[in-house]
Amino acid sequence: MRRPLIAGNWKMNTTADEAINLVNDMLTELIGFTGVDCVLCPPFISLQSLSKLLKGTSIGLGAQNMYYKEKGAFTGEVSALMLKDLCRFVILGHSERRQYFCETDAAVNQKIKAALEAGLVPIFCVGESFEQNETGRTDEILSMQIKSGLSGIGATDQIIIAYEPIWAIGTGKAATGAQAGLAIGFIRETLCSIWEKTRANSIRILYGGSVTGTNITEFVKQPQIDGALVGGASIKAAEFISIVRQTALVKS
Ligand code: PEP
Repeated sequence: MRRPLIAGNWKMNTTADEAINLVNDMLTELIGFTGVDCVLCPPFISLQSLSKLLKGTSIGLGAQNMYYKEKGAFTGEVSALMLKDLCRFVILGHSERRQYFCETDAAVNQKIKAALEAGLVPIFCVGESFEQNETGRTDEILSMQIKSGLSGIGATDQIIIAYEPIWAIGTGKAATGAQAGLAIGFIRETLCSIWEKTRANSIRILYGGSVTGTNITEFVKQPQIDGALVGGASIKAAEFISIVRQTALVKS
């Protein structure tokens, strides 16, 4: 049995004070949903304060990126070594990082390796563009991203995969549950082709892309989908709570 998980990617939103207020608005409700793991991924600057606020609770904390080197002359970067005392998770390979910061599959692979070595749990994002989807290349792209991203990495259950079709991120045009279920089924088959089957089957795979309190059940009803990576709706306390609540209901 894979435990359902809802992760919130706050992206470049919330000042230090706003982040604390947002967690305070959600915390009591979130810790009540025992059947679902919750992970909040605020901007770097809030990791320290939120790690204190969430200490001793069941709510996980994650970063949104990191660099693969441990330390050194890499101005503006943050390493796994720096993150590991503050949080347990790190989003890697998000399409916004690939698109705006030119992250390649090879760079994502280096980051995943460094995160795992430091004991962090990567939330590894993959997904096809609108054009790739329209031209029937979804499986090819997903296979390439999964195989490159996990190249040289032995089977581990310390990783979470998020299927995030680029055309659905921040657009309000979510995939359908069936579309996401198919793509995630394909990702699992790909994992089974590179890793031992039981290990591949234990990996949690999330859907991400315009998830809201209105459409979450469509996704989590699919047996292949273990939860969601939520962007925009994760910085609205009531909406995020509703997403977690409905996931708990469907998956219990
Ligand atoms: C994301 O940024 O990972 C995401 C899924 O965003 P949104 O929910 O806003 O589409």
